[in-house]
Amino acid sequence: MRTIQPTIRAVAGGLLAVAVAFSLASPASAAGTAEARGRALAPSGAAPIAIEETGTLAIARPTISGTTRVGRLLRATAVSTGTVAPRVKMYTWLRDGAPIRKAHASTYRLTSKDRKHRISVRVAAFATGFPTVKRTSASTERIRFRVIDDPTNSQVVVNKQRSLKPKAYAPSGLILPSISNNGQRLRSVAAHALERMAAGAREDGVTITLLSGYRSYQTQVAVFNQQVATYGRAVAEKQSARPGYSEHQTGFSGDLGGAGGCPITSCFAGTQAGKWLKKYAYRYGFIMRYPDGYTKITGYAYEPWHYRYVGKKVATDMKRKGIKTLEQYRHLPAAPTY
Ligand SMILES: [Zn+2]
Repeated sequence: MRTIQPTIRAVAGGLLAVAVAFSLASPASAAGTAEARGRALAPSGAAPIAIEETGTLAIARPTISGTTRVGRLLRATAVSTGTVAPRVKMYTWLRDGAPIRKAHASTYRLTSKDRKHRISVRVAAFATGFPTVKRTSASTERIRFRVIDDPTNSQVVVNKQRSLKPKAYAPSGLILPSISNNGQRLRSVAAHALERMAAGAREDGVTITLLSGYRSYQTQVAVFNQQVATYGRAVAEKQSARPGYSEHQTGFSGDLGGAGGCPITSCFAGTQAGKWLKKYAYRYGFIMRYPDGYTKITGYAYEPWHYRYVGKKVATDMKRKGIKTLEQYRHLPAAPTY
């Protein structure tokens, strides 16, 4: 055995240890594994004591857990597989293989910069007297929007401050619900929930119909321009959404009617259907999206006919907590204007 280079490192507890690495007769160890043998000197400089530990420093390929959406936290796990526990593990998060600035913790919070990119993590394991071991995880799938930004997700929040992304977004999977539907389509999950809701209302002798559902970007352009031409821009902005800002474009919203008249007017609130919906819609996953008295938050006047599908879990949670708007529920800023 032949001494190559002694290195001195401070170790936890303030003691100084001198690790002496030896060139061994055996060939270079396999990737991810290091072997070392050495001696330690007592701080006093007493006679060298042979180090008992001869082992391997190795880690398994790191794995990433967590939801691959903007705003969510990813967690890296790198299990030690050698006989020597790493003294330090350093993490470097990578976006499409390139290191992300200041991302060196075992967790990483995804930002909008990560959207559409793939994330991986490189873990470096250190132990005194051993060469550094580095391993890189597999890449995640492409990072998606937060659910509230994702127009394909039933949790998307669209308002005057939050356009659809992209503005000309068009959903797939639109169907005609099998109730009186005025030829209007909805996303299938919302359509089936509406069918169940109409069936529930029917048991109480109440009729629910769909008057208006999905509206495309192009339709909204036509509607909005017509409103501007007829009433002027100020009035048009109050009664219809700018193209790309309408919840109807998601396919999760419907303007509902009943047998009592008052279609798409505030007196709908006083009809049997209006009253029934206000009381029971949450049980089927719908919320009244523009309730009375919340114009400063939602940006829209009271619309007792406009219901939005958010799923039973969220609708029930909002009901239980007494939260009236999606903006408040998601802790988003009010959106009174564009
Ligand atoms: Zn509507």
